[in-house]
Amino acid sequence: MSVTGFSPQTTKPTLSRTNVTCPICGQATEPLYRIERFKPELDIWHCPSCKLQMQATMPERLEDLYSEDYYSGKADYTYKDERKQERFERFVWKARLNRIKEFVPAPADFLDVGCAYGGLALEAASMGYSSQGLDLSGHAVNEAKKRGLKAKQGRITDGLFAPRSIDIVTMIEVIEHLEDPQASLAELSRMIRPGGLLVIQTANFEGQQAKRGGSNYHYYLPGHLFYFSKSNLTRLLRANGFSKTLFFPGVEFGLLPKLLKSRGNFQTPRDYAKWLRISWYHAMSKLAAGSFAMTSAMVLYAFRDSE
Ligand SMILES: [Zn+2]
Repeated sequence: MSVTGFSPQTTKPTLSRTNVTCPICGQATEPLYRIERFKPELDIWHCPSCKLQMQATMPERLEDLYSEDYYSGKADYTYKDERKQERFERFVWKARLNRIKEFVPAPADFLDVGCAYGGLALEAASMGYSSQGLDLSGHAVNEAKKRGLKAKQGRITDGLFAPRSIDIVTMIEVIEHLEDPQASLAELSRMIRPGGLLVIQTANFEGQQAKRGGSNYHYYLPGHLFYFSKSNLTRLLRANGFSKTLFFPGVEFGLLPKLLKSRGNFQTPRDYAKWLRISWYHAMSKLAAGSFAMTSAMVLYAFRDSE
């Protein structure tokens, strides 16, 4: 919290908020949007220099966002219970792990941060990795443990892992939920062995999808505290000992696993029409060059520097 200058509060931002500096480049941040489809409204500020966006106020207790209701679909802002569709989710987990394996093969120490019920981490274990999970939610961690995963409850910054003890860390749609991304990456840099891999999936606010959507872009959600781009996230990674990064527009695997996964939500044969939309989005996501990207889906692979 000290890095970003946020203090825990739930009130509307006031003028005193203007002295908050960007955790990436140290510039003073400015108001960008008030998103009124949420109650209370979401106030989004941004850094005029590196374009990092962030919520103006941090939740008082982050744990309160991730109750059992969050995981069972009862909360306003929710996560679908992956266990009900695990047969389908596994197509994507396997495709991702096959890509990871090209860079850091098993046996190696694997950690999924934001592991929820442990699906990805258990899949990694089945491929020969020594696998663990970390999640802020005590409910999720208990469920993951029941399924045989070595899982810990807490934050990255809690210092639960020894220095240089992990080879691969995955954070799939997680970094946007963290209160202090700078401190979290500093700790990940400490935990990951030289040459090790950090996988981050989050939205890319340089993408045309986010730019065109403006304040209506669906990624603005109460639990999403920071909104990155390819450029500013790469910069933050470099500052924390991850000089080498690989950018994947969209995702780092092919279309087929996505199509197979989508069947988990299909109710009738007519739902197969959705494959057209998924295929179109996948093709569009590959239209990217330099800082241009058509969609706002991205995955970054970051490699820990050897000192
Ligand atoms: Zn900045």
